[in-house]
Amino acid sequence: MSKSDNKDNGKPSLARRGAIPASASRPVATPIFPSVVYAAESADTLDAQYEGALEGYTYAREGHPNADMLAATVDQLEGAEGGIVTASGMAAISAMFLGVLKAGDHVLAGDQLYGRSLRMLGQDLPRLGFETSFADSSDVAAMKAAIRPNTAMIMIEAVSNPTLRVADVTGIAELAAAHGALLVVDNTFTTPAMFRPMEHGADIVINSITKFLAGHSDVTLGYVAARDPGLRTAIYDAAVTWGTTPSPFDCWLAERGIHTFDLRFEKAQATAATLADALAGRDGIRQVIYPGRADHPHHNRAGALFGGQFGNMLSFEIEGGRDEVNSFVMNAGGIPFAPTLGDVGCTLSHPASSSHRALSAEGRAALGISEGYFRLSVGIEPPELVLDELDAALAAVRGES
Ligand SMILES: *Cc1c(COP(=O)(O)O)cnc(C)c1O
Repeated sequence: MSKSDNKDNGKPSLARRGAIPASASRPVATPIFPSVVYAAESADTLDAQYEGALEGYTYAREGHPNADMLAATVDQLEGAEGGIVTASGMAAISAMFLGVLKAGDHVLAGDQLYGRSLRMLGQDLPRLGFETSFADSSDVAAMKAAIRPNTAMIMIEAVSNPTLRVADVTGIAELAAAHGALLVVDNTFTTPAMFRPMEHGADIVINSITKFLAGHSDVTLGYVAARDPGLRTAIYDAAVTWGTTPSPFDCWLAERGIHTFDLRFEKAQATAATLADALAGRDGIRQVIYPGRADHPHHNRAGALFGGQFGNMLSFEIEGGRDEVNSFVMNAGGIPFAPTLGDVGCTLSHPASSSHRALSAEGRAALGISEGYFRLSVGIEPPELVLDELDAALAAVRGES
């Protein structure tokens, strides 16, 4: 009797699964593989799998088809090999640190990283015996001055949040190479459509798939890839051991979203450029920060690094204080006031009350973040719709509605 007959000595057992029906045709969309375990043919084939002589899955925390298919797609986008998908962007960063660093190593990081990355570097890594410090990654001289003899890693984001400063990636890559330190680039803000860090000297690239790549604000996932195969193995083992690996369903959802990533990003970038120029001429706007504008302090560097693309992230400052900020948010039509980015639609965030609330007003001012400072993650809506909504919000701030 075959084990797939769903019977046990003539008595059916619901505990036994039936065979997957044979089909001469195959599904076009990727199936979801929720199985935690994979049954091997024999002890010999299992040995062969563990030794790498046979391909195959064993246990979902160690890998499954949905994660591997998604990783292969992001690898292609990043021009990387052997990347892994993790349960979140922070899980990717955790697995990377845990797999690569040893106690006593120093990590030099950009001073305007994603909030939780700053917290991990500022609090968690020192508690575990790693040294960390921060410097302005748009200024290679400041980074160079912060290098220590035990600096093993430099971690940056190419465009900072929310002030959209552009890192001197080329200078920092040279600095890292000269010092024998690894360069890690979190590419979430820039995305691989605009920037491929490994082509600019990065040893390790990170993405929060949660944001643009998945693109629909319905799944939390991350990605990490290393240029060196030994580091790849170390990061993979850290992810499996510390349990930062992803769920099949989440990977499947992200794969579904990523099919349209390049189209979404292209449209959102074009709209961001239009909105930046339009907003710059509006009453009640103190300044617009967009790397694609000639008045951005790093406009030329952005042009050279990103090949003429400037992204979908746009920041601007309105005149006034908290009352004006509330009025703007409450009158901005259908734009969700939500601290995220990369959604299919626009999202508006206010660093002083969200991502940068832990800083004092002086601390924020030092970074150039006033009470009236907003960040807009531009989506794929028609630009006229978004501009109408922003104009309505500005009119409300001016007391005109
Ligand atoms: C959101 C984000 C992360 C963290 O990703 P999660 O998927 O939310 O864990 C890391 N870096 C940057 C730049 C981000 O925007």
